[in-house]
Amino acid sequence: MSTFLGMPGPPASPDSDLTGTRPFPAAARDALGNSRLRRNLSNATGIIRGKRANVVGEVADWEELREAGAAIKASALARLPALLEQLEEQVTARGGVVHWARDADEANRIVVDLARAKDATEVVKVKSMATQEIALNEALEAAGITPIETDLAELIVQLAHDKPSHILVPAIHRGRAEIREIFLKRMPGLDPDLLTDEPAQLAAAARAYLREAFLRAKVAVSGANFGVAETGTLTVVESEGNGRMCLTLPETLITVMGIEKVLPTWRDLEVFLQLLPRSSTGERMNPYTSTWTGITPGDGPQEFHLVLLDNGRTRVLADPDGRSALHCIRCSACLNVCPVYERTGGHAYGSVYPGPIGAILSPQLTGMTGDSPNDSLPYASSLCGACEEVCPVKIPIPAQLVRLRAEHTEAHADSHRIPSPEAASMRAAAWIMKDAKRFARAGRSARLSRRGMRRGRPAIPLPPPLSGWVASRDVPDLPDETFREWWARTRGDRS
Ligand code: SF4
Repeated sequence: MSTFLGMPGPPASPDSDLTGTRPFPAAARDALGNSRLRRNLSNATGIIRGKRANVVGEVADWEELREAGAAIKASALARLPALLEQLEEQVTARGGVVHWARDADEANRIVVDLARAKDATEVVKVKSMATQEIALNEALEAAGITPIETDLAELIVQLAHDKPSHILVPAIHRGRAEIREIFLKRMPGLDPDLLTDEPAQLAAAARAYLREAFLRAKVAVSGANFGVAETGTLTVVESEGNGRMCLTLPETLITVMGIEKVLPTWRDLEVFLQLLPRSSTGERMNPYTSTWTGITPGDGPQEFHLVLLDNGRTRVLADPDGRSALHCIRCSACLNVCPVYERTGGHAYGSVYPGPIGAILSPQLTGMTGDSPNDSLPYASSLCGACEEVCPVKIPIPAQLVRLRAEHTEAHADSHRIPSPEAASMRAAAWIMKDAKRFARAGRSARLSRRGMRRGRPAIPLPPPLSGWVASRDVPDLPDETFREWWARTRGDRS
């Protein structure tokens, strides 16, 4: 089947790293039993929350900046096909090559073929959510090419054969003593008597390890925070400078960018370069902001490839209610304020996108199939609304969560021959509320049940599932008379 720009593609390919093996409640239960994980998460998210609040508080027009960010994203998505074609035209005009990848498999094939064409046996990588999403490292390894993560936290995760648990701080779940152990085990030549768990020493060890890799590498792979259509410029923001080394030293640079990252103009980039660092690392600006446009003879990589990735994005774009999830700039502010994320960490979500944004983005990219672990993600929230308050591009995350829950319930209601206890109770409640007399009788009967209550708890044990409900809740005390009874008593029959 041929496709054209503007036509929704299929859901993300199953090989993507967007779905875990277990539903969220089961995975979260295990995470909740890990007290060290909870302590690390609470410390780290608390520090980042405080830094963010300070630097956001300094900006008098922060709300206007958020409005501008949301408006630019909405407008860019509304004319995405035209902007992507403009981006392709500009990148090509400046010596780059643009590839279109419908899904993870296509994107991985393109990158592997390009690396092979350069006889590369290893590639250095800039931290990138898009390449994690498509499981590029696994695809490279299967092709005999060693990927080397150069972001310090990503390197820790890679050396530990672990998975990232935070968008911005992938090793947030690891303490420094653990990191020392990982380095001693996986980095050749380190002396256990000399290496302590001091952050400066650990960073120095990583620097020495990575420097060799930068000097050897012929090919680098990056993601992109933004792509500017008017000039074909790609942008990566980072804190360590390792990304800058990858983007400038190797002969060939391959960038994998989700199609939603395109912005119309440089003027638009200005808004996001203010929103992103304050929302993510709590800094006024990123220590390193790298931009490049095609190739520059004699300076930097002499071959540049841009892989534009769909992997379910056009499907999300086609849904007017869901598409605001594509506004996300991966700042991770919503993770840092989420009470659910703070207690479970990122692994419980299964997808590379954890926290509130993962709970709405992953199920939309993969689709909710009825038996996928991602079907449970829209329920991984208390709906407290903290995520929407901090989101720099004003994504209505709680509203999307509720909508996805409703879609999931409606789509799969017919598949249950026996209704769930919740569905049966809701049907019974609807039947009672439809009729005024029935509703009044139910109120009177409920009051009688007070006799069976003692201090907010049933005097006799209830059978499941009611026992589960009352185990952690008090039953509210019912008033002596209903509103209707009070009305009749105080106003007679006046309506
Ligand atoms: S949803 Fe908003 S707050 Fe969360 S990562 Fe994306 S841009 Fe940041």
